[in-house]
Amino acid sequence: MTRLAICPGSFDPITYGHLDIIERGAKVFDHVIVAVFNNQSKSPLFDVNERLELIREVTKDLDNVSVDSCDGLLMDYAEEQNAQAIIRGLRAVSDFEYEMQITSMNRKLNENIETFFVMTNNQYSFLSSSIVKEVAKYRANISDLVPEPVEKALQKKF
Ligand code: ADP
Repeated sequence: MTRLAICPGSFDPITYGHLDIIERGAKVFDHVIVAVFNNQSKSPLFDVNERLELIREVTKDLDNVSVDSCDGLLMDYAEEQNAQAIIRGLRAVSDFEYEMQITSMNRKLNENIETFFVMTNNQYSFLSSSIVKEVAKYRANISDLVPEPVEKALQKKF
């Protein structure tokens, strides 16, 4: 049986923090699908296609990782894909309450799919897409926060 996990998120845009949890997940599961959710309430900077393209580019060397988008319920998507697991990253205590709420709801929706939390590498524990966008606006150096294609895409946006 293929062990499949979904790594869901907004990825607006993907950072080294995201990449860190995707790589860790890919070591444990046979296949990982990075699923971009289009959460309009977050007023994204990159549209879904731009986000998908950037993720594809920066994960192209990971053979067991694929990229997809979804605008329905995560648990419906996970079931459709026959996934056994969801992977989420935990940065700091501040992530915990939000993640606990979502995970409890997801478990209520489908108790057969487990959520696994991966603790990020300490060097990325402060890193978020929002912070990257904020500093990129002011042309700060973000080369150690995001892969090069993302850095270029951000430079183009601003
Ligand atoms: P969402 O809108 O679902 O929170 P994000 O794109 O912000 O989407 O995050 C997707 C996943 O990646 C979440 O599980 C989040 O905790 C994780 N993540 C984001 N940044 C980091 C980071 N720096 N280190 C580890 N995990 C991270």
